[in-house]
Amino acid sequence: MAQDKEKSAGKLLEEQLVWKFPHIGKEAPQQVDEAASFCEGYKDFLNEGKTERECVLAAVRMLEAAGYRPLETDKKYQPGDKVYQVNRHKSLLATTFGEEPLERGVRINGAHIDSPRLDLKPCPLYEKSEIAYFKTHYYGGIRKYQWGTVPLAIHGVVVKKDGEAVELCIGEKEGDPVFCVTDLLPHLAAKQNERKLGEGLKGEELNIVVGSLPFADEEIKEPVKLLVLKLLHDRYGMTEGDFYRAEIELVPAQKAVDVGLDRSLVGAYGQDDRVCAYTALRAEIETEHPRYTTVTVLTDKEEIGSEGNTGMNAAYLKHYIEDLAETAGVRARDVFRNSLCLSSDVNAAYDPTFADVFEGNNSSYINKGCVLTKYTGARGKSGANDASAETMARVIGIMEQEGVYWQAGELGAVDQGGGGTIAKYVAQLDIDVVDLGVPILSMHAPFELASKLDVYNTYKAFRAFYKI
Ligand code: MN
Ligand code: MN
Repeated sequence: MAQDKEKSAGKLLEEQLVWKFPHIGKEAPQQVDEAASFCEGYKDFLNEGKTERECVLAAVRMLEAAGYRPLETDKKYQPGDKVYQVNRHKSLLATTFGEEPLERGVRINGAHIDSPRLDLKPCPLYEKSEIAYFKTHYYGGIRKYQWGTVPLAIHGVVVKKDGEAVELCIGEKEGDPVFCVTDLLPHLAAKQNERKLGEGLKGEELNIVVGSLPFADEEIKEPVKLLVLKLLHDRYGMTEGDFYRAEIELVPAQKAVDVGLDRSLVGAYGQDDRVCAYTALRAEIETEHPRYTTVTVLTDKEEIGSEGNTGMNAAYLKHYIEDLAETAGVRARDVFRNSLCLSSDVNAAYDPTFADVFEGNNSSYINKGCVLTKYTGARGKSGANDASAETMARVIGIMEQEGVYWQAGELGAVDQGGGGTIAKYVAQLDIDVVDLGVPILSMHAPFELASKLDVYNTYKAFRAFYKI
């Protein structure tokens, strides 16, 4: 071993004054294996839940297995009791009662379980040139050109005339057929190549191939469409009219996989924001005796602006906390104003291939831990929550006390674009809130990348948040 050289005065001063976020693999290599084993369960969750409804079902299964029961508003709860509530099959709240009185506030961790995808139009099925297609209307911010020639699976629910709800899932099981949007061959794409990238594939070109064989009957004008309807009827008992009573979505059929020779990354569809949903759920379930009562929220509709009654711009979180307050006999508004919330959502990881849309000193990087995002928004923070210095200090303090690797980052350089999260809707309830989550490469693409070390440290941050 070489002898340690004595550090210069400047070196010592630099260590004292200059701030840097380390690469976790360099500073804490023992976490590599811990993170990899944590992410096995994460990959299973991603494969099990590719829509908000499926994520709610998976979460309820996990919660019930851990002893959670539906919230009863006429019951008195003790510290350590565990309850949950489902909102219209698409969002979910879970709670572990804490040691502190409820009027001191709750700790809220909110993540969203909807992801960008292709939704079927209400009247989707048509036949053209003896090929049957589904028309789609995309959901959330997608780059349309990325969705051509990608194997897709059908997920959804049909509520039939008699009220029976039938779940659809085709393209996930071994041996299932898949579906896709076609694109032009390069030989004939000279004109398409002149389009702007945003119109590489246009919205009305995102048509899904669903069949090409006819129902054998000369009398029928659209026999390929009829055969598709017959196959759907054979399998699900549905008719064309049932599409009007349905929510059917096309999502990438690809399963979650490891990426890289070192297997350091998870590659999968829907990591925005199921990465925070899974880590939040694990932290919720593993929290036995929290100081403050926990409220873990898995919400819907974030990708289209938190709209609708299952999105965070609705009153369901407010009502849930009011219910909790009622069971404890305290005023709900005291609970709100003393609460602290993590709006847990992903941020854009710095991508060296596209460095010019980032500002290096204020970007999040893969393998440097969960990213704390003080503000989101666009054009001068418009639409942002912009967490206060005090809120930042509280959350950083919690993470540092538990040795969590964290970093800070903005969503891209100034005026390059922007985005929003659920944070501002939580803030409207008179609650302190800040964004925290996982840096993602290729966010909103059919195949997104996250670092296992970052996923693991986000989970650690959520554990700390419910502990301290
Ligand atoms: Mn998100
Ligand atoms: Mn998103």
